Formats: sequence, structure tokens, C-alpha cells
Amino acid sequence: MNSIFKVTLLADPKLQRYKNKAIRELNKFFNKRWVHNTPKVFVVDDRKSIDLLREERTENWVVGWSWGKMAIFVLSPKNISKESCHNGSEYDIAKLIKHELGHSFFQMAFGQSKFTWFNEGVSIYVAGQLDRFPMPKKFSGFLNGKRIYQESGNAIKLLVDNYGKDKLFEFLKKQSGITETRKLKLVFKEVFGSKLEYSFFNNLI
Ligand SMILES: [Zn+2]
Repeated sequence: MNSIFKVTLLADPKLQRYKNKAIRELNKFFNKRWVHNTPKVFVVDDRKSIDLLREERTENWVVGWSWGKMAIFVLSPKNISKESCHNGSEYDIAKLIKHELGHSFFQMAFGQSKFTWFNEGVSIYVAGQLDRFPMPKKFSGFLNGKRIYQESGNAIKLLVDNYGKDKLFEFLKKQSGITETRKLKLVFKEVFGSKLEYSFFNNLI
């Protein structure tokens, strides 16, 4: 498989501004002071290169991802319409960059997590992408790995609105290293005083 890539400086003032602003705001949200060795932003021109970088055939909605603390990748803003299912003239690149950097911050603050819903949820919430995912009438999928994008950002919002960010961070710290759902439920109960189930979130809507 082809795995040799060419990297050159893009020097894009707009994207640089988006990144700088996102880093400032994410430092504030995560209570960090990450200024050196912040993740590099790689702009990828097309779907073919995305698939080769990720070594998988990606869905046409995938336009960015994070490689942990080192780097994030975004599809070139000028090719969003051509290389993805999104409308490039409406797609918010600043939020995309903040979302992917949010994953890098999450990993730096809480380590890697096996559970997608709060990792994605925090990024969607902190990047301000809830305008794309309105509050569901009823939660029914995110705990089982379904409807992650539609539901998890709103689940995080409900936790922050009702219990505060410190409580959420306490949960995220305590879940670090946990891989079993059974153990995750114990931590959730300890922090939020409730079973980790849809009814808990539905009662907060
Ligand atoms: Zn994400």
C-alpha cells in the first residue's frame, strides 16, 4: 500500500487563526496551558489520501480526525463539496478544527478512552457543533455505540448544565483506563449518583 506522503507548509492565515483560537478556548475549557508542541494541523486534499492515511475506506462524511496529541487532519476546505457529502459553502471549518483538537485535548487530559460517546460528545459540545445536532426527544442509541453524533454531544451538555463541568471532569478522570462497561457504570454511579442508562438522560431533557 502507498504510504509515502509529501508534507509542505501551507501558511494559511485563516486556518492558523482558527487553530490559535481553538487552542486558546480549549485550554480554558480543559483548564490547561498547552502552548508548546500543540497538535500540527495537516490539510488533506482528497478522499483517496484520507483513505491511505487511515488505511481504511472512510465514509464520505469523514472530513477530519485526530492523531492524539501530535496531529489533527482535516480535508482541504476547498474540496469539502467534491470529496465529502457535506456542502462546502456551509461547512464550518473553524468548528471542525476545534472538534478534532478537542480530541487531542481530551487525550492529553484524560488519556485514551474505549467509550466513544463521551469522547465524541465532549468534542461536539466544546466545538459548538450542537447546532447540527438538536436535542433528541429521547435518547436511545449513544450508550450502545449508535446515534453517537446525534446524541452524545447533547448528553454531555445535559451533564454540564445539570452537574457542572467539574463533575464531568471528575467522571472523565475516574474512567481513565477503564475498558469494561460494568466498571464504567460503577464510576458513573459514584460520580453522578445514578445508573448509567437512557432514562437518566431522558429525565434531564
Ligand atoms: Zn470526533
